[in-house]
Amino acid sequence: MSGKEIAIIGGGPAGLMAAEILSSAGHSVTVYEAMPTVARKFLLAGKSGLNITHSEDYQRFSKRFGSANSYLRDALDAFRPGDVRAWAAELETATFVGSSGRVFPVAMKASPLLRAWIRRLGAQGVAIKTKHRWQGFSDGGYLFETPEGDLVVRPDAALLALGGRSWPRLGSDGRWVDWLRDEAIAVRDFQPANCGFDVNWSTVFGERFAGAAVKSVVATSPAGSTQGEFVVTKHGIEGSLVYAHAAALRDTLISGQSAILVVDLMPGRTLERIERDLAKQDTKTSLANRLRKGAGLDGVKANLVRECGRDAELHDPARLARLIKALPIPVVAPRPIAEAISSAGGVAWDEIDEHYMLKQRPGLFVAGEMIDWEAPTGGYLLTACFATGRAAARGISSWLRA
Ligand SMILES: Cc1cc2nc3c(=O)[nH]c(=O)nc-3n(C[C@H](O)[C@H](O)[C@H](O)COP(=O)(O)OP(=O)(O)OC[C@H]3O[C@@H](n4cnc5c(N)ncnc54)[C@H](O)[C@@H]3O)c2cc1C
Repeated sequence: MSGKEIAIIGGGPAGLMAAEILSSAGHSVTVYEAMPTVARKFLLAGKSGLNITHSEDYQRFSKRFGSANSYLRDALDAFRPGDVRAWAAELETATFVGSSGRVFPVAMKASPLLRAWIRRLGAQGVAIKTKHRWQGFSDGGYLFETPEGDLVVRPDAALLALGGRSWPRLGSDGRWVDWLRDEAIAVRDFQPANCGFDVNWSTVFGERFAGAAVKSVVATSPAGSTQGEFVVTKHGIEGSLVYAHAAALRDTLISGQSAILVVDLMPGRTLERIERDLAKQDTKTSLANRLRKGAGLDGVKANLVRECGRDAELHDPARLARLIKALPIPVVAPRPIAEAISSAGGVAWDEIDEHYMLKQRPGLFVAGEMIDWEAPTGGYLLTACFATGRAAARGISSWLRA
């Protein structure tokens, strides 16, 4: 044993991964978690199968983090998607590659993996103190609110792994932002990422089609074109295809411009064919009939055309065909961050050295979603949380040695 005491504040994937590395290096590690149990967001991610990483070529994988690509590269290089799978396998969790290249546990849930992980941490001597909510700095230590009253701890080194700001009821509420800013540490405002958007649907459309899936379409935004599906909600749109464009749509709105998701409702048919088939339809028949017979569209897709098209477009076969191939859905605002899968923003990279230590507070490190990076869904988020947790743990070890 090194005799060094390390506090990990926040028991999500990033914090638990750091605890694993540091305890295996012989340090005395305590995880302080605000909630009654650890890793609640990780468990929730398990409800949709736990997409733990992605099998695509690593060069592609490592470029999924936008402006943070270069900052994250060393951490990811040291814990690649293959390493994530090997690590899960050691924790009795076999994984498989789904048709989209995404990697999931065979069990399609997080709880068996988390149970095995917590067992391993216990065997390595990690103490987990739940219902210990960090409340900021106090006299050179870290102040916690606990069921037994306030507690100040003064470890040899500490890691903040407090998460971003989505789904605050699972624990990551972002209250720490003020405490770091009070120390003159720059934190970029959080924004929803991988989120749905509000659309000004007519009441009739919103109520009638809320919950309807729009399948096998191609969506285009400044992020490019992607095939997939999305869901109409009472307020707007959500789902994997929307999340793939969420950062681009959000940033367009932030810049004060109008943001439009352009949807090809019939990617399997050419514009010319649709126009030709629509032109054969009797203009006196209803729009629903013309769309069904001329373009094979019905249900939510046909009604999206009616909802988003202008009257003049609906009556002209050429313009109607163009609408079907490039339907503009104007989004007016991202859904609230509390509903988002993840958040963008967080501790600015300028504040962090290459070992994930805060330059202004030697001995205090950061990891996970609380740092300023974002990524699409696809297992990138968890992989980067694991990888930064490990990188910060290595940073703590070498800082303590020095
Ligand atoms: C519905 C949903 C599905 C998702 N699915 C996937 C998926 O399939 N694949 C994927 O890659 N990602 C997925 N994610 C994202 C992924 O879960 C997160 O990116 C990841 O959990 C972030 O890890 P973290 O350790 O940085 O933070 P968190 O998991 O947020 O953990 C932070 C921890 O810190 C604790 N904490 C916060 N403040 C304090 C405080 N003051 N004192 C003490 N403790 C505190 C919190 O209670 C929490 O336990 C999903 C997210 C959601 C919401």
